[in-house]
Parts: sequence; C-alpha cells; structure tokens
Amino acid sequence: MITGGDAATTQGPSGSELVTFLYGDLTGLSRGRSFPLRDLPERLHSGVGWVPADQALTPFDEIADPNPWGPVGDLRLLPDRRTEVRVDRWPEASALHFFLCDAVETDGARWEACPRALLKEALSALERDAGLRLVAAFEQEFHLSGPGRSGPAFSMEAHRLVEPFGPMLVAALEEGGQEPETFLPEYGPGQYEINCRPAEGIAAPDRALSVREIVRESARRLGHRASFTPIVDPDGVGNGVHVHFSFLDEDGRPAGYDPARPGRVSEASGQFVAGILRHLPALVALTAPSVISYLRLTPHRWSAGFTAFGDRNREAAVRIAPTYAGADPERQFNLEYRAADAAACPHLALAAIVLAGLEGIREKLPDPPLIAADPAEMRDEERARLGVRRLPGSLEEALDALEADEVARSWLPPLLLECYLSMKRTEIRLLDGAEPTESCARYLDVY
Ligand code: GLU
Ligand code: MG
Repeated sequence: MITGGDAATTQGPSGSELVTFLYGDLTGLSRGRSFPLRDLPERLHSGVGWVPADQALTPFDEIADPNPWGPVGDLRLLPDRRTEVRVDRWPEASALHFFLCDAVETDGARWEACPRALLKEALSALERDAGLRLVAAFEQEFHLSGPGRSGPAFSMEAHRLVEPFGPMLVAALEEGGQEPETFLPEYGPGQYEINCRPAEGIAAPDRALSVREIVRESARRLGHRASFTPIVDPDGVGNGVHVHFSFLDEDGRPAGYDPARPGRVSEASGQFVAGILRHLPALVALTAPSVISYLRLTPHRWSAGFTAFGDRNREAAVRIAPTYAGADPERQFNLEYRAADAAACPHLALAAIVLAGLEGIREKLPDPPLIAADPAEMRDEERARLGVRRLPGSLEEALDALEADEVARSWLPPLLLECYLSMKRTEIRLLDGAEPTESCARYLDVY
C-alpha cells in the first residue's frame, strides 16, 4: 500500500498531490472527486460525496430524465484499498493517484444501483451455486491520435512511430501494479492494443478501468490522445474489449478444461457458454451499449455478429482461445467473450456474463455447437439448425431485447434497470439524426 506518504512528498512542482476516488459508472467512464493526499487516511474510511442521479449521466454528460432519483439524495464513494494506483513518472505533472470505489448509502449500506456491488454478488453466486471462481483479463483496443501518420498494421514502423509511448505506457502500468503483458499496433489505422495479466474476480474489471486511465494519461503526457471508443470510422474495424475468462475450483485448481470433450470445454464451461449465447441479444445491451457499438458488431470485422461459439474462430461471439505448446494447457485454457466494448461498464458487463453463464449451469444446458466457419457465410437454414442468430442491429433493438428477456431483466436490481434503460434511451435521443460518421466523432471525443 502506497497510501499516506509524509507531508514533504505531497508537494511537488505541480502543487499538492491529489488523490481521486473514482466510480466506474454505467457509461464505462470513471468519474469521481479528488482531495489532498494528506487527508487520505481519513478518506479511506469516510469516502467522498456522490450524487445518485449521476448514475443517469449519459456519455454526453446530459443526465437522463426521468431517472429514479432526480435532485434528491446523497451517496458516498467508498474506496477499495486493493485498487490503489499511483504512477509518478512525469516531471511536468503530479502523480496519477486514484482508487476505485463502490457507491454506497451515506450510512455505508449497499446502494441498490452500484454495478460493482452487483458483480460481487454475481461472483459469490457463481462460487456458491457452481463451486467456480472466475479469473478474467480484458483485452482492450484503443485509438491513438496525435502522433501523425500511422504505420502498417502490426509493423515495427507502427511500434516506433509512437515512441516513447509504448515503453512509457508499459512502465506506467508496471508502476501502477497492472502487470502488462503485450503492447501492439493493431489492424486499424492508429489502433493499438494493450494486454495485462488475468486477475481473479472483481480485480479483473477493476484492472480494465485502471488500465484505461493509465493509457489515457500516458498519451496525454506526450500530447496525444487515446480513445477507447467502440469504433472510429463506420467503415473501419472496431475497438473491441475482449473478455477472456477461465474458472478455478474452490481449491484454486483450474476448472473448465476437459481434453476429452469437444473444444476441450468441461461440462460446466459448456453450460456457461450456452447460458451466454441464449441471452446474448439481451446481454449485448449491457456489454456493447453505445449507438455505434452496432457498427462494430457486424460480420467480417472479427468482432461478433452472431450468437456463435467457435474454437479459435474470430467471428464467434464466444471463442475458445488457443493454448500453446510448452506450457500446461489446463492453466492456459480460456474462453473469450468478444461482443463487448469500452462503452460498457466492465463491472456490469462481467456481472451480466456471469449471471447468464450461471443460468446455463443451473439449467444444465447442452454445449452449444462449435462453429468452424464464418457464420455470415452460412446459409440461413444452416444457421437456424445450429441455433446461430444475428445479434441486434442497433442499440434500440438490444435494449428491447433486454426488456423482453425476463431472465436477463431480473439480473439487474429494479432501480439499476430503470436508470439504465432511461439513460441509454436518452443517449440514443441525443444522437438522433446524426450520421454514423458524426456519431463516431462524438464517441471518439468522450472515450
Ligand atoms: N478489432 C476487433 C474487434 O473489434 C478484434 C480484432 C482481434 O483482436 O481479434 O473486436
Ligand atoms: Mg485485437
């Protein structure tokens, strides 16, 4: 724990060091309040103030009306000490110092609409009812603007053109405790990807949010801008957030891998994926929830256009990731949910994935068929026979699917659902009449 520090270290060339308590809200953005470092010991207990109606903030900062709270009420943002990030490597700027928080009632009680609390409950239910602990890693793509020309996809040129962004980012992630693994220029112009080690339970989406903040800060320090927007150009590739996940049993041994079964997925993993696919049209309203997410979730972009499960198939919504020779396959084995992007609150998205999967386990659903082809290239009858459905074509359709799916609706506490639907429909209204290119520009600016 870095907390505290003596008074002398709290004054830098940029002024008094501030600590920010951040809340990962329903838009996938982190918002919060800052205070002087000297107050941290006390603030760790008391938190900072927060406003319930802020939960209804759209990505474009208009608060959805109606929302369940209006002008009334108060909350606290209470930090989870394990989420502390402090990166102090830029002479021209103060340390980037923050904690991620739960939103709680002023008396400290659970607030019904907090997505982080919902995820904790979903993970406990998975452990209690299925004996499984979840390990996950969020593979995140983003767009870097500022360095000028971008080199060919994956090329050394594209690595080096943004110097010293890569090494600076990796060092900042290391200092911030995020265990970076790989940094790469991706397929799209100006597109990059960052991967960090998997983490157990709530630490995984916490990491997703912290990594985004460190990426954005590293870009800012070089005068660039990093955006995790779901898609930059309507005709280009999207920025995916692929959620890799695997299971441990109660003793911490890998569960979920069974080399004797098709795709090497254990019975429980197969059921879990079946639950996800059954509810996927509703699920995407929570995991890919911007207006432009539906430009990305279209065939031939290696994102996900259909409710398909595939072994190493990049057009599948849930993919079995590869394992490599030379290391224990049981430990490497993981599944990848690809129908997510950074407009989703990672805690809410993961909670919904877990609750959908758990539903599949409870109902003992059969393994979904493994789709080896591009689902868009299959004939209609073939898709129908295999239960492969097209995903919703717009955010409106996805929200309608969520409302129509009684099981999916029940995953969210009523106030959270009410707020979410109202906020998302306001977001749609705010882009009413905008051309796709203009909508992309709006999201690029925010994320
Ligand atoms: N950019 C693709 C997406 O939108 C993913 C490409 C890949 O890394 O497989 O999900
Ligand atoms: Mg990628």
